[in-house]
Amino acid sequence: MGEPLLILDGVSKLYGDVPAVRGIDLRIDAGEFVAIMGPSGCGKTTTLRMLAGLETPSDGEIRLRGRRMNEVKPWDRDTPMVWQSLALFPFMSVLKNVEFGLKMRGLGAAERERRAMGWLERLHIAAYRDRQVSQLSGGERQRVALARALVTEPEILLLDEPMSALDAHLVVHMQSELKQLQEQLGITFCYVTHNQSEAFAMADRVVIMSQGRVQQIGSPREVYRTPATRFVAEFVGANNILPGRVRALSDGLVEVETAFGCLRAKAPADDTPEVGRDVSLVVSADRVVLGREAAAEGNSLPGTLIGEEFVGAVVTLYLDIGRETELRVQTQQHNLDDLDLARGTRLVASWRPEHSVILPEG
Ligand code: ATP
Repeated sequence: MGEPLLILDGVSKLYGDVPAVRGIDLRIDAGEFVAIMGPSGCGKTTTLRMLAGLETPSDGEIRLRGRRMNEVKPWDRDTPMVWQSLALFPFMSVLKNVEFGLKMRGLGAAERERRAMGWLERLHIAAYRDRQVSQLSGGERQRVALARALVTEPEILLLDEPMSALDAHLVVHMQSELKQLQEQLGITFCYVTHNQSEAFAMADRVVIMSQGRVQQIGSPREVYRTPATRFVAEFVGANNILPGRVRALSDGLVEVETAFGCLRAKAPADDTPEVGRDVSLVVSADRVVLGREAAAEGNSLPGTLIGEEFVGAVVTLYLDIGRETELRVQTQQHNLDDLDLARGTRLVASWRPEHSVILPEG
């Protein structure tokens, strides 16, 4: 493996004395689709703006192909950005908007038009070439913004919440288009969003940030299945987090004494917690199975059904397991056909120890 395309080494950004980004380490390979996500104010946009050259890091170093980028101006780098506001020229034609970056680079009119038309065709907006951007729909504008950024054939494309102005069904459509495009082009995408389903649908790796720091970097699956911190477990959602204390360690499993009895979880590969340590046991809602009886093996918790939510074929059930605690269970509707459920039904939630993870408390 060669050196990663892009390296962030201990990158921080202070605005006055307000830390927006605090010591981020990140390596991005050529051709990767990386999504940076986290709640509002966590430092996502600031990180992206530093990659674009719109902000200078207060500390640390950004390297692109080994070259220090900290002081390189936006126009001297090959990292265009697509914003949520799109920043298009509303009264200019689609073609002129897309040609803009090429004009700035001094390309002749014929070559500009040839290249820009290539992208308009690729993104299915060639028919609108002479229309003003202000006369397009949100989805069409989105394509113009992409065409404008891609026409200069950048190595990295930076995208800041580019779909936040689109309605839900268009977002799903654009997601698969964008992912396909990125794979075909082999361009590195660095995509900022607060929307988890968007990030998980497209990214090879996600970076989860909180309060200017990276909490976890991994594939969507890794982050979802094995959250590294309590913040990630909560942020990723649909996780049940049960506090307890390590009682024993055996056969690669950790026994945790909780207010709901003794539960077992897979021991973390690194950092196995010692007996007596306060931990949280995390089990994702879709790993929990409901039945009338306790499972013969594994973890079981009895409870009372207190609510259900349907989204398409997926249902989320809420089980009162006592001590003012609700357990969330997510499953396909057809799995519930035989249970004859009603509010107040007594059920047993079960899951396999290896389907839960242990996090240090605090
Ligand atoms: P959002 O999802 O709301 O866009 P974000 O994760 O992109 O949030 P940033 O825009 O990077 O967050 O902001 C990180 C922190 O830095 C916030 O606390 C914000 O108030 C602060 N901040 C951002 N820009 C500036 C600025 N120009 N001057 C001072 N503080 C700033």
